[in-house]
Amino acid sequence: MDCKANQSIGCTVTQCKHHCETQNYCSLDKIMVGTHESNPTMKQCTDCDSFELKQ
Ligand code: SF4
Repeated sequence: MDCKANQSIGCTVTQCKHHCETQNYCSLDKIMVGTHESNPTMKQCTDCDSFELKQ
């Protein structure tokens, strides 16, 4: 499979369909980061909103 690793977006979430498997990078040109909290105070409060589960 041909994966276009974006060296500006490191990622270790291998369950995501945009992850580059053998390299810890995202293949998207850009991602959206968001939060599920009303008042985020630590990194656990943030999410990659571009995540999609690998089928
Ligand atoms: S979309 Fe988000 S979670 Fe998925 S590989 Fe890219 S950075 Fe990682």
